[in-house]
Amino acid sequence: MPNAILASRRGVFAALACGCAAAAGLGRGSAFAASPAASTSVSADEALSRLKSGNAAFVGGESCTPAGGHGHIAPLAAGQAPFAVVVGCSDSRTPPEHLFDGKLGELFIVRVAGNTVDHTALGSIEYGVAVLGAPLVLVLGHSGCGAVEAATKVVTKGATYPGSIGQMVEPIVPAVRKAQGMKGDLMANAVRTNVELVLEQIAAASPLVAQARDAGKVRLAGAVYDLASGKVAFLD
Ligand SMILES: [Zn+2]
Repeated sequence: MPNAILASRRGVFAALACGCAAAAGLGRGSAFAASPAASTSVSADEALSRLKSGNAAFVGGESCTPAGGHGHIAPLAAGQAPFAVVVGCSDSRTPPEHLFDGKLGELFIVRVAGNTVDHTALGSIEYGVAVLGAPLVLVLGHSGCGAVEAATKVVTKGATYPGSIGQMVEPIVPAVRKAQGMKGDLMANAVRTNVELVLEQIAAASPLVAQARDAGKVRLAGAVYDLASGKVAFLD
């Protein structure tokens, strides 16, 4: 038996052994691209549905670490066709592949503390949408975000930070100021508002993404991950 097939079968058996049909390629569809030019056929609605079912699997303890092994890795060398771009926080507790039970080649991820977007991040998003053909851009905030908390202290206590941390926090300050006028918990409101403002910023700063959205080729969505429950709440 060729090694690739053997490795692939081993991967399937390993995935089945841990009770994860999706990781064995038996549940949600495969993202393997036949060529670099072949983008995903997954629609925006299907992409959102996959993220939701993936998070349900994560919360339920049914997800697996994406399978490795030659049979899973090598086919993706020919190209990638991710079904979503995820803009998330650097927080070590929020890796999108885990939260959404994502496999290799499925999620194109931009991560920076506070899930904000600068020019480099915007270019990465545009690459995911325009070049790779991802039909969904998800901005993902999370509860207890240290970057948002730092921005809150800038606004409420005049806090300052060493090095470049202040510049990292600065883009979140407008969300905190807006959240100050809302009822409820300031931190929770600031996290959600930051997601909403980043979504607006992406559309405003990137004609490429805005045009793709208006043409129905990409959907922009926001969500907040809860550290304690593991659940992702979608804002739409
Ligand atoms: Zn964070």
